[in-house]
Parts: sequence; C-alpha cells; structure tokens
Amino acid sequence: MSIASIEKNGIVGAGGAGFPTHIKLQSQVDTAILNAAECEPLIHKDEAILLQYTDEVLRGFKKVMALSGASQGIIAIKKKHVHIIELLKKKISDPIRIEQMGDFYPAGDEVTLVYATTGRIVQPGELPLSIGCIVQNVETVYNIAVDQPVVEKFLTIAGEVENPVTVKVPIGTPYSELLSQIRIMTRNYRVISSGLMMGKLEKDLSQVVTKTVSGLVVLPADHYCVQMYERFQKPQDTIRIAKAACDQCSYCTELCPRYLLGHPVRPETAMRNVMFSQPETTPVHSGNAFCCECNLCTLYSCPEGLDPRGSTLLEKAFILKNRELQWEGLPVTVHPMKDYRKVPTQKLMQRLGVTQYHDTGPLTEMEIKPRQVRISLKQHVGSPASPVVQLNQSVQKYDLVAKAEGSISANIHASIDGQIKEVNQNEIIIQGSS
Ligand code: SF4
Ligand code: SF4
Repeated sequence: MSIASIEKNGIVGAGGAGFPTHIKLQSQVDTAILNAAECEPLIHKDEAILLQYTDEVLRGFKKVMALSGASQGIIAIKKKHVHIIELLKKKISDPIRIEQMGDFYPAGDEVTLVYATTGRIVQPGELPLSIGCIVQNVETVYNIAVDQPVVEKFLTIAGEVENPVTVKVPIGTPYSELLSQIRIMTRNYRVISSGLMMGKLEKDLSQVVTKTVSGLVVLPADHYCVQMYERFQKPQDTIRIAKAACDQCSYCTELCPRYLLGHPVRPETAMRNVMFSQPETTPVHSGNAFCCECNLCTLYSCPEGLDPRGSTLLEKAFILKNRELQWEGLPVTVHPMKDYRKVPTQKLMQRLGVTQYHDTGPLTEMEIKPRQVRISLKQHVGSPASPVVQLNQSVQKYDLVAKAEGSISANIHASIDGQIKEVNQNEIIIQGSS
C-alpha cells in the first residue's frame, strides 16, 4: 500500500469530495483524523463499514498516518455509536485516540471536524493541511486497506422504504436498477442522492452510482425536502423569492456554522444584495466565497422558507469567476456563541420531516448484478480520466478502462466483466457478460 498503489487503484475521497487520495497523501502533517462523524440524516454507510470492517479501516488509517508522517491519529466519531466505540477501544492504542462527538449537524465537514477534534481553526480558503492535519473518510481508508481498484461503492438506501439498508454496489449501476431491489412504500416518490442536506434531487433515475455517492433517500413527491429542492432549482427562483420575502432577520447568518467558526460568511448579505441588484453586477460580500454549502441556512434556519444558500452560492460563483479564493483579512477566531448554537441532528430531522423513518442502515449481503454499467469519466475533482479501451473490447472486473489525465485526476476501472458497448466523452458503457 504505497502512494503509487493508491494512485493506481484510483482511490478518491469517498465521503463526497472526490479529491484524489494519492495527491492528498503527498503532504506531511502531524495529525491524521479519521472522519467517522457521518452527519447527513438517514445515511449510515460509514457506520456500517466501520462495524463490519473494523480491522480493514484501522489498517487503512494506520497507513494514512505512516504515509503522511502523522504522529497522532484521531478517530472522530459520534458518541451515540457506543457499540462501535467499545469495539474500537479494544483495538487501538497510543498514538491513536477516539474523539467522541455530540450528535450535531454539520459534523463531518473537514473544517468543522478539525476544530472539534484538535481546537485548531482552518483559516478561510485554506485546507486542513495548512495547520498540520489530514482528514480521511472511513470508506476511503477502507479502500486503501483492501488495496484493489475502486470498482464498488457503499451506499445507504433510506427514507420511504420498508427496510433501510447499506449495500455495496458496482460503480456505474443505474439508480433505477438499484431501487428495483428495494421495497418502496409509496408510488409517487422522488429520490435525493448523497443526503438530504448536501445532496441532489434526482430528476432522472437512469443516473448511476459513482465513487462519491453516499446514499439514496426516497421521499414522497410532496415531502418538504422535495418541495424545497424543486422550488429553488433555478437561480431566478432564488432571486425572485428573496426579493419578495426576505426580512433580513439574519437567522441564516447567526446559525451558519462557518460564521460561528469565525469565517466571514454572511448569507443575509447575499440575500440583501440580490434584493437590490442583479447577481452579475451585484456588490458582493467577498467572505461569502467561503460558504461550505452545508444548506443549514436554507433547510433549517430561515423562518421564511427562502434560499439563502442559493443566494450565497450565486455570490460565491461570481467571486470565483473574477478572482482566486483567498482571505486577506486578519486570522479568524471562533464566535463566542458557537457552542450554544449547534444544531442537534434530531432537531434537524424534525425540521426536515423525516423522524418517522427508521434511522438505521445495516450492511446487507444483497448482491446487485447490473446487466449494464455506465462508468463516468469524471467521478473526482480535477480532469476527467481518458479512456484506454475500444468499442467491443472484452474487459474483466478491475481492468483499467480510463487513465488519470493531468496533474489532478484519477484512474477508473471496470466494475463488471463484459464488453465495451460505448465510449464517449462522458462515460464508458460496459454490457455484462452473463
Ligand atoms: S434569508 Fe431568511 S433567515 Fe436569512 S435574513 Fe432573510 S428571512 Fe432571515
Ligand atoms: S450553506 Fe448557508 S449555513 Fe452553510 S456555510 Fe453556506 S451560508 Fe453558511
């Protein structure tokens, strides 16, 4: 398990970021943090992996520590996972320790996690590496430990289903095929991928599993979360409704986790700017470029049901188009009210209207055998991978089908045995051999 084998296997951040792991591991730090602080409501895939593959995860984490030169390792996990913590305690020793966290949202965001576990503040626009920390997700270190090309993904299927589960699925499997194996309890439903807070409302269930998707949450079509995502799909809607209804109460800012960490993010200023101007010409509050997109302001904080995140992201896009993301102010310090304004996950789930669903996702042995997979060439941060296979070529599971291109990219491999049916600029289609 060298950095070269991590690169060869196409390992990327499996928590959602998709940053190529071999690049992240080239930095030297003093502290490695295992991100087991899963915080998206109803998603349990990291919990399931940690429970089922404890030894592999610890082996992968120790490898991360060795490669990054970290002299201490911290396992960041919510204290509600008592059984996993007891299991881990039996298997770890100095210099690895467990940091037991409260059950709040957000928790797994890297900047939040570094502060919660070390007390160090990642300054606006910087990475945890800048203050001697590296953060790796549970599934990423599992992939490092198994030392094979990444061709499968763990994800939780939850919400309006008979039994929520975590499954291991070949990359490229269409969501529709995956959901056909699950008993869904309503006819008219929608699917939000990768979590209710930071995920995406899927319009088209022919979309496929990638290296970064963490779950599928099935909800009735008239559910609050579905309606919020539908209402604010277009920037024009965010702006029109902001102009009509924002009363500048600032709740969105006062509860913003980045603002409370001292970062210069103020979503209420983004709302004010779109109320009085056009996003292309609007005067911007440059600190809004450091929004982490957690969606707390839109789905939880705003009493008027508006979209402060959408307005903030319009500003962020405008700023990034015109200059580099760089903070030129003084080093930031934590807001004195930070500890009193954390959002408990249970309260968030009440606000989202999902407390009636089973909040579990045990790993099942369910075998998903797609007839065809569509493997995206861009499942990671950076440049798309470049195909190395031809039409009608036979491939076997784990074969390289697209190689990393440029300085930031990742290799991509076949997730099933079969024949190449199509190669285009976005994806490679493999027809299964049986
Ligand atoms: S967006 Fe909502 S929370 Fe923010 S200032 Fe306007 S009304 Fe208040
Ligand atoms: S999405 Fe909203 S709450 Fe989250 S960091 Fe951005 S502005 Fe703050």
